[in-house]
Amino acid sequence: MPETTGGTLYVVATPIGNLEDITLRALRVLGEVDLIAAEDTRRTRKLLNHFALKTPCLSYYRENEARRGEEIMAKLLSGQMVALVSDAGTPGIADPGARLVNRVREAGLPVVPLPGASALAAFLSVAGQTGASHLFLGFLPGRSGERRKLLQSLATEPHPLVFYESPHRLLKSLADVLAVLGERRVVLARELTKIHEEVLVGELGALLARLQKRPAIKGEFVVLLAGAEPAALAAERPSGEDFAQLAAWYRDQAGLSLKDAARQMAIDLDLPRSQVYRRLLELWTTVHQGS
Ligand code: SAM
Repeated sequence: MPETTGGTLYVVATPIGNLEDITLRALRVLGEVDLIAAEDTRRTRKLLNHFALKTPCLSYYRENEARRGEEIMAKLLSGQMVALVSDAGTPGIADPGARLVNRVREAGLPVVPLPGASALAAFLSVAGQTGASHLFLGFLPGRSGERRKLLQSLATEPHPLVFYESPHRLLKSLADVLAVLGERRVVLARELTKIHEEVLVGELGALLARLQKRPAIKGEFVVLLAGAEPAALAAERPSGEDFAQLAAWYRDQAGLSLKDAARQMAIDLDLPRSQVYRRLLELWTTVHQGS
């Protein structure tokens, strides 16, 4: 452990289901620290019992995070070593972990990550997305009105949207997605690394109908929605009079590659694709050289 007068905060990833997914380093650090700040102490206690670890736990979750954050800071400043764990997976992703991380860093004390299981990374590893990027939303808002508003603001987002969802909200959220964004290709994972693990892939409407037929929705979910098709972007696209402006929009707003932009602009402008491609190549190369 690093030499400091104060303590260190270790941000420790824990399994999202299968306990074999704990790392050797996580086990060592969870056993060595003075205290574990846990989002769900019951769940963490089960994990610790399984590995015969006796480290004391203190609850640290969204509702008590301000008060508990101060207590944890006092312990760190007095030189104690603290581990932060979320209810499962990697702290700091869609949970209050980041607030404690910021406090500790602002106090000038070390914050050390211990990587491991993460619901997001496990999901992406089996989602089969060939593109490099996605937009991770954490949890969608709990209220339908706010949820729909957020979804509306993302209607033309070309990158896939990924979010976490709880069992009691899954059907309502998917219904809102269908109402606001329309049909989309979906990848939905449930209970990753657990006995009832499943990954469903299909069109949103059909998938929602299938889930609605289940007697109960159980488990924890991660959902990916395909990004907006270029057609859905058309409403926001500038007119084709200015070639350079349209090209910049396809690259910067729609996020299209040169090849895809050439295909789309050839349709928009009713020009041969090869001609559009050459002009785009010239334009984008010049812009890049100049920047
Ligand atoms: N910070 C953790 C991470 O990213 O690994 C996630 C914490 S977040 C409070 C909990 C959410 O992660 C759940 O509601 C669910 O959406 C997702 N999740 C956790 N475990 C999962 C699992 N085994 N399978 C699918 N999703 C899971």
